[in-house]
Amino acid sequence: MNQLNHYINGQFAPSPESMFLNVENPGNGEVITQVPLSTRKQVGQAVSAAQSAFTVWRHTPVSKRVSYLYKLVQLLRENEDQISRTLVLEMGKSLPDAYAEMKRVFENIETACGMPMLQQGDKAIGCASGIDGEVLRLPLGVFGIISPFNFPAMVPFWFLPYAIATGNTCVVKVSEQVPGTMSLIAKYIDQTGLPAGVFNLVHGDKTAAAALLDHPLVKGVSFVGSSQIAKLVAEKCAQTNKRCQAMGGAKNHLVVMPDTKINEVVRNMIVSCFGCAGQRCMAASAIVTVGQETHQLICEQLIAAAKKLTVANPLDSKVLNDATAVGPVISAAAKERILGLIQEGVDEGATLALDGRNITVLDGQAGHYVGPTIFTDVKPGMKIHQTEIFGPVVVIINANTLDEAIEIINNHPYGNGASIYTQNGHWAREFKLNVECGMIGVNVGIPAPVAYLPFGGMKQSIFSNTKAQGKAVIDFYTEQKIITERYWPEG
Ligand code: NAD
Repeated sequence: MNQLNHYINGQFAPSPESMFLNVENPGNGEVITQVPLSTRKQVGQAVSAAQSAFTVWRHTPVSKRVSYLYKLVQLLRENEDQISRTLVLEMGKSLPDAYAEMKRVFENIETACGMPMLQQGDKAIGCASGIDGEVLRLPLGVFGIISPFNFPAMVPFWFLPYAIATGNTCVVKVSEQVPGTMSLIAKYIDQTGLPAGVFNLVHGDKTAAAALLDHPLVKGVSFVGSSQIAKLVAEKCAQTNKRCQAMGGAKNHLVVMPDTKINEVVRNMIVSCFGCAGQRCMAASAIVTVGQETHQLICEQLIAAAKKLTVANPLDSKVLNDATAVGPVISAAAKERILGLIQEGVDEGATLALDGRNITVLDGQAGHYVGPTIFTDVKPGMKIHQTEIFGPVVVIINANTLDEAIEIINNHPYGNGASIYTQNGHWAREFKLNVECGMIGVNVGIPAPVAYLPFGGMKQSIFSNTKAQGKAVIDFYTEQKIITERYWPEG
C-alpha cells in the first residue's frame, strides 16, 4: 500500500514512528493510500526547520520570494488535470468543481505575487519638527496552517502564498481525510526550488494540529474547519498570544422574493444546494420563500429539478463533466450522521418532501452516497434548521415578508453567507445592509468572493477578526513596526 510522506526541510521524509490511517475513495469505499499521523516530535522537527529557514527567508528580497510563486502557478497549471483528479478521488466532488477549486488556487497565488507592492509600509515625513515617522511591515516567523476536508487544495492556498510572500515560513497540516492533493502539490512546490524549510507539510490528525497550536515558535495559526474546532483554536491562540484566523461552519440561506424569475434561478439554486453533495461552507442549505405563491412554486420546481439529478461516482465517465452530478459524502461516519439528522427532521414534524436515503447510485457504486433531500414545513428553530448538516439536505421555510426572512437569518447561530433572489433594488439593499452574514449574494447562489476580496463570515462562522484573502491578510502576516526618527545636522 502506497504511504504518504511528510515534506520537512525540503525532503519527503518517511514516517517510521507514525501510526497510519487508511484514506478512502468516498466514491467506492476503496482504500487509496495511507496517511501518517504525525507525532508531536515530527511536528516539532517541521517547526524547527521552518524557524531555521526564516532567518534567511525574512531577508530575501520580496521580488525573489514571489519569483517562486510565479514558478509554482505555472507548474500547477501544467499539472492541473492530475491534481484535480487526485482531489476528486479522495474528496468525491465533481471534476468541474475540482477545476473551479484549482482556479481559486491560481488566483490566490497570483494575488500574492503582488506582494512587492502590497507589503509596502507608510512614511510620514515631518510628523513633528525635524522628525519622520515610518511604518515597516515585517514578517513574524513560523505560521501554522490547518485545513478542512472539503477544499483540499484551495483552503491551504488562502494562506500559504501570502504567508511566504510576506517573508514568513510555514507548516501546513491538511485534513487527514484528504491528504493526497497537498502531497502532490508539495512535489511541485519542491520543483520550484523554494529554499528548504520555507514550506513544510506534516500529515496528521488533531494531535498534529495541537502540536502546532502549542509550539512556542509558531507565531500564528490560520485555521478553517468546523465551528467547534475553530473556537478551540481561537481560545488556544489567545492563551499563547499567537495570531489567529479561525473560520468555522455555516448554514447559508437563500431568500426567494415574489418577483424572482423562478424558472431562471432554479438551476442556480440546485447547484448551490447539492453541488459537492452539500459539503461546501458556502452551500445553500436553507431556503426562505417570501409569500405563499413563491413558496408553492419553489417547492414544486426545486423538488422536480432535484429529482432529476444523477447520483454517481464523479469519476464515472458518464458524469465526468457534469457539474450537477451529486457525488458521495466524505465518509461512512459522515453519511451516518447525515442520515441521523434526516430522521430527526422527520421526528420533529417537518415533511420529507424528497427522501435521499436508500438512493440508487449510477452503476450501483458502493460509496458513501446520500441523494438530494428536501424538507418542507420547516419551522425556524427546528434542529434540521439550526444544525450544519453538511450533506445534500435542504430545508424550505416560508416567511410572509422580507423583514421576517431577514429575522430568520439573523436569529441563526451561523453567519457565513446568504443570498437574495430579486429584481427589486430596494429589497436587495435592505438585505445587503441588514443581514448578519459576512458574504452576501444578489441573484447568485454561492457568493464565494474571488481571491482579491476577503472571504469569511460572522457570528459562529468565524472566531477571529481577520478573514481569509483580501488586503487584511497582509497585516495578519506582518508585524507593524513604527519608527520615529530624527537626525541633527553635521557639525
Ligand atoms: P474539522 O473541524 O473536523 O477539521 C478541520 C481541521 O481541524 C482538520 O485538519 C482536523 O484534523 C483538525 N482538527 C480536528 N480536531 C481538532 C482539534 N481538536 N484541535 C485542532 N485541530 C483539530 O472540519 P472538517 O470536517 O474537516 O471540515 C468541514 C467543516 O469546515 C465544516 O464545518 C465547514 O463549514 C467548515 N469550512 C468552513 C469554511 C469557511 O470559510 N468558513 C471553509 C471550508 C470549510
